[in-house]
Amino acid sequence: MLYFDNAATTPMRPQVLKAMLPYMKEKFYNPSSVYAPARRVRSALDDARVEIANAINAKTEEIFFTSGGTESDNWAIKGVLEAFRSKNGNAAPHIITSATEHHGILYVCKYLERQGVEVTYLPVDGEGFVSPNALDAAIKPNTALASVMLANNEVGTIQPMARLTEGTRRHGIPFLTDAVQAVGHIPVDVEALGVDLLSLSAHKFGGPKGVGVLYIKRGTPILPIFQGGAQERSRRAGTENVAGIVGMGAAIKLATEELPTENPRITALRDKLTDTILKTIPHTRLNGPLSHDRLPGNINVSFRFIEGESLLLHLDMKGCCASTGSACSSGALEPSHVLMALGLDHAQANGAIRFSLGAGNTEADIPALMQILTPAVQKLRDLSPLYDDFLKKEK
Ligand code: PLP
Repeated sequence: MLYFDNAATTPMRPQVLKAMLPYMKEKFYNPSSVYAPARRVRSALDDARVEIANAINAKTEEIFFTSGGTESDNWAIKGVLEAFRSKNGNAAPHIITSATEHHGILYVCKYLERQGVEVTYLPVDGEGFVSPNALDAAIKPNTALASVMLANNEVGTIQPMARLTEGTRRHGIPFLTDAVQAVGHIPVDVEALGVDLLSLSAHKFGGPKGVGVLYIKRGTPILPIFQGGAQERSRRAGTENVAGIVGMGAAIKLATEELPTENPRITALRDKLTDTILKTIPHTRLNGPLSHDRLPGNINVSFRFIEGESLLLHLDMKGCCASTGSACSSGALEPSHVLMALGLDHAQANGAIRFSLGAGNTEADIPALMQILTPAVQKLRDLSPLYDDFLKKEK
């Protein structure tokens, strides 16, 4: 099996599973209970909090456990709006975000628009970058929040975050970054980025699914969106996913230790595979940044004359896993909103495939993939009337 879908999810590392197992067996206690075995469970949560805080240069009291990236995104946006409303009465709030956000941000903004919130969707350039000047120009007196993802899940664009946060910082406007694709893969330092809120998710860096973090910089105005128990210092109600959190702590520790070697290794692998695809298969184009500001594991290529979805099925039949974009929209015929925002036409967007590399990929995967990919593309092109027309015109 060839796995090229690490942006959708990563396999759990054996050390992570080992760290988690006791908390699903003998260490099953509720961390909010008062007796000694439960207090030891609470202390395991605190250890994981320290690991996460260290990994992103935050303070432990700024780390809040959630059920993953989607919850963190929802909480950050809705919680900041609630706080804005409670301070500013009926003034309609305004949010600034970008056109290429994950649905975890974009659909929350669409939902809030239906409730009367004003949203500015900043455009991106051909490589997926948001312009800091455009962000500054979008700021209004009623801007309650700005939200731009740190690294894009489809095309890997890493935003110039420190520049993007400058203007909002001057105006005291909270800034959220969805760093779900970034944490564990590139260095992330909340102070250097200048963000107030940051979402991350364990299953994108070798941890378990269904657990993540919302980083909340001290003093950021945000209210809880869950009402209930007093967990997470009364800001996120609900009994903690203890085993998941312990696993996330182990996974972030491993990813942080391995970052100095894994980041350049995977970047080199990415560049080699990209080159091989573009040189071996004609009529292909790389989508996203050509510069170094691209996630180490991200390759997004459009294959002219064919549908990405059909190519995925062919790859799948040969035991190769890849994706046409974000996992939630694969299967949908709508072209990717990210690729359209980059200025691709429908045909280019529908012919795109994302190969995302991770800890399990090696050099040997490149020839193995090409052996499957090259004939699959040719087979689909041979069936394509568009390709046939093209060949006739060429003659
Ligand atoms: N944000 C981004 C950029 C993502 O890539 C994903 C997952 O694909 C999410 C948010 C959602 O995270 P989770 O799967 O933990 O809900």
